This record gives sequence, C-alpha cells and structure tokens, in this order.
Amino acid sequence: MQTQLVQADSVGLQQAAHLLQQGEVVAIPTETVYGLAADATNGQAVKKIFAAKGRPQDNPLIVHIDSIDMWKTLVKEVTADALALAKAFWPGPLTIILPHSGSAAPEVCAGLDTIAVRMPSHPVARAIITQSGLPLAAPSANLSGSPSPTEARYVLEDMEGRIPLIVEGGSCEVGVESTVVTLAGEQPVLLRPGYITKEQLEAVLQKEVLVAGAVTQMLKADEIAASPGMKYKHYAPKAQVTILQASGKDYCDYLNKHAEQGVAALCYEEDVPYLKVPYVVYGKQEDAASQAKELFSALRHLDEMGAKEVYARCPATEGVALAVYNRLLRAAAFRVVQL
Ligand code: AMP
Ligand code: MG
Repeated sequence: MQTQLVQADSVGLQQAAHLLQQGEVVAIPTETVYGLAADATNGQAVKKIFAAKGRPQDNPLIVHIDSIDMWKTLVKEVTADALALAKAFWPGPLTIILPHSGSAAPEVCAGLDTIAVRMPSHPVARAIITQSGLPLAAPSANLSGSPSPTEARYVLEDMEGRIPLIVEGGSCEVGVESTVVTLAGEQPVLLRPGYITKEQLEAVLQKEVLVAGAVTQMLKADEIAASPGMKYKHYAPKAQVTILQASGKDYCDYLNKHAEQGVAALCYEEDVPYLKVPYVVYGKQEDAASQAKELFSALRHLDEMGAKEVYARCPATEGVALAVYNRLLRAAAFRVVQL
C-alpha cells in the first residue's frame, strides 16, 4: 500500500473524509497526539486500526466526536457528571468513559460494556469528523509499544505502507494522550493522567476522583487492568531507559561518571550546561506542560541518535507532571533508581 501525506487543505480534508466513509484508516492530527482514525460504527474498518498498529485486540479505542448529539448515540446515558465535565473541558484533551449503547462496533470496546469518548479541539480533527459525519475510533498513530507520534513525520515512520493517508497538522500542542476518567462506576476514577488534571476534574465534579493504581505502579501478574492500554512497557524507544530520582546536580554528576559509548541523557533544559554526555532535552524543570509537549519526540530523537542506554531526569508526580511521569515510567518499563 502507498501512504500519501497530504496538507490539511480542502482537498486533503475531503480525501480523508471520503476514505473514512469507505471504511479505510486515516492518520489525523489532534491536540494531544496524532490519531489513527476509522469509522467507529464499522467493525471491518476498526479491525484495520488494530492491524496497522499491531495492537492487541483486548485494548479498547477512544471514539472522537464533534457534538453532544453524537455522544448520545454512543452511550446509554449522558449523566449529569459527564455533562458537567464535557461543558468544562470539551472540546479538549479529556476522555470520558460511560456504559455504551451498543451502536459502536464491538471491536471499539474490546468486549467491555463501556465506551471511551472525547471531543477533540484540533480544528483539523474536528473538520474531518464533521465532513465524514462519523464518530471516529482513533488510538495514537504509532506502532503498538512505540512512543506516540506528535508530528506527521513520526506517523510516516511507523505507518508507511500500512495506511493510505496521513493528514499533516504540524506538531501537537499537548503532546501526551488525553486524560481518561471513568464515570461508569460508583466513584469517578482517573485511569490515565493527562493535560486535564485530577484536581481540575474534582473542582468541576465537587467530589473526589480516585487514581487507578496502574497510573504509577506496575500491575501484579494476576491483576486486571481497568484501562487495558495501561499495562506494562509502552511508549518505549529502542534504548533501555532508566529514570533517576535525584537532584539536578547528582543527576548530572552520575551521567558524567557514566559517559560510556551509547549512554545518553534525557534531561531538562537547565541540565544542559552541566552535562558532558550526549543528551536530548524534554522541557523545562518547572514547566510540566513543556515536558509533556516534548517527551515523545525526545524519545524518538534518542533512537535517531543511536542511544543504547538512557538516563532520564525524574518528573514530578502532581498535576500535568503526573502525565509525564506515567508515560516515562512505561518507556522505562518501571526502572526507577534513587541516587
Ligand atoms: P490510545 O487509544 O492509544 O490513546 O489508548 C486509549 C486508552 O484508553 C487505553 O489505555 C485504553 O485501554 C483506554 N480505554 C479505552 N476505552 C476504554 C474503556 N471502555 N474502559 C477503560 N479503558 C478504556
Ligand atoms: Mg497509544
């Protein structure tokens, strides 16, 4: 299959909408990361997403919508809490899980009785949903296991020959996947941290939001993931990544002492003057949004550099930084060392 990369002009958007209506898979930009989209009501189309990514069938997909009316077709009921979150954060990087109505293809929900839905804010994603008239199932547009793509060229790297079309939309503003919250149980639970924080959700809901254990801890062998995609190693570059919990000074000292062939630092901008090893920067120390925005492209840069062993500065674990920590933990297969 030939993969075409097109601009998001009227011709490109029309081509994307047309392919989606025909049951094909198209990579589209969103404000979080690039998504691999297909008609969420067409099981054959959704199966092509799993095939293109090499994604396990038990990992459900997020459905992207452009209106509350479209949401209502997908879920049993839009509850008061769900509507309050939608009013506060949509369009934007928040995914809400509710019991499903059965109108999406079963492959989307991977056998669960719930469905994850989000209204993206990226104008190109919105235009493609509207022009196709379809709710779009869309996981991140990377090969399963590798870092999510925040630029069209990274989508091409992973998806060339696997899908017919990629729509160019520049680099993604947020840079990490959406916050995922489930409202399908007794209490709201944060399943995946993102740009919208637990504290922001609590302020709107006026109640506590629990955090799933898998956000910061490795699942035990017999434990079932509430969010199947949050299992073990994920988002990983080819290099082995280790997170170092240390002050900036101790971190740089450690790296300079281990300046062997293939060793590289994944560091903050502030560390650069003190490092004598190859490095890739992921944002500024006190600016979690900049870390989120740069993390996935930084992981891909490390591969391009040929890094074999990467030592990462440890992000904070609150607010937006929790999203960064959560992704980096999986890129490091939970290898964290305290200096
Ligand atoms: P991705 O599509 O790569 O952004 O990943 C979507 C995330 O949402 C994965 O972690 C999925 O396991 C999770 N997810 C999607 N639908 C559901 C659902 N119905 N219940 C729980 N988690 C879900
Ligand atoms: Mg993904």
